Amino acid sequence: MKKLILAALPALLLAAPTSAPAQQQKFITIGTGGVTGVYYAVGGSICRLVNQNRKDHGLRCSVESTGGSVFNINTVKAGDLEFGMAQSDTHFNALKGMAGFKDAGAYTDLRAVFAVHPEPFTVVARRDSGIKQFGDFKGKRLNVGNPGSGTRASIDELFAAMGWKVSDLGLAAELKADEHSQAMCDNKIDGFFYGVGHPSGNIQDATSGCDSVLVPLIGPAVDKLVAQHPYYAKGQIPGGLYRGNPSPVDTYGVMATLISSAKVPTETVYQVVKATFDKFDDFKRLHPAFAALDPKNMVKDGLSAPLHDGAMRYYREKGWVK
Ligand code: GLU
Repeated sequence: MKKLILAALPALLLAAPTSAPAQQQKFITIGTGGVTGVYYAVGGSICRLVNQNRKDHGLRCSVESTGGSVFNINTVKAGDLEFGMAQSDTHFNALKGMAGFKDAGAYTDLRAVFAVHPEPFTVVARRDSGIKQFGDFKGKRLNVGNPGSGTRASIDELFAAMGWKVSDLGLAAELKADEHSQAMCDNKIDGFFYGVGHPSGNIQDATSGCDSVLVPLIGPAVDKLVAQHPYYAKGQIPGGLYRGNPSPVDTYGVMATLISSAKVPTETVYQVVKATFDKFDDFKRLHPAFAALDPKNMVKDGLSAPLHDGAMRYYREKGWVK
């Protein structure tokens, strides 16, 4: 039965040539990250606002949980996603064909749509591991993240700056972000590294599931990275967001950005941007990590690729860019 209904749908759409919205019905998908991260909430919030006006623009927006930034950029490039969330470091490196994107070469069709929340690199360790600073992970079990995540791309850069190899760890686990908290609380790893916004359900799981601490990420290697790369900045994870972690923790990090491709039509990107910013107060209410967002910063911070023409059109209308 199910099959029959699905098969009948396109025929129905074709048979309604005078109905403009049905004719224009277009599917767009936003690649995000794990369901406990913040990217998934960003994608869900954007789609919710886009879909409210479906009658007017004919776009049907859906969100996909993915392996993270690198996967999203590569999949937008392949034309299998229209939009993706990406850390500002992967955004920069993909555009220029640097770091993990060296073999792929410069992705000149990459387009920025807007920046969202800051993502301070977040290191969490079991309290009983005795880990107090990042260097204490030497010989210990650390989750470095799944290939395809921005997290993994960033820790690769950090290790290079520290002169560390994966073999300096007792175990380098490659679990997805949705799995690392449970693995830590089950004592399969001592801790994890994750580029994520705050507060997030993911870090809530890690700190409420067992006794764990946020570990500062500071020192000469971090100073060097921040000085060398425009996409890194020092930051803090505020105190009191998570159980057992009352004080702010110093670290460095990136911005979360929404990216697309020059191949995605101007009108599509315009409608997505318009839906998000026309009802921005509603957007901000959809996740606590969005509370401090300011559209004027979102159209410039952390964006290395040129703005997509559709985004540009809306920002010009608003007077946010020249
Ligand atoms: N920054 C992470 C990554 O690209 C994902 C964070 C999230 O899902 O909120 O790997």
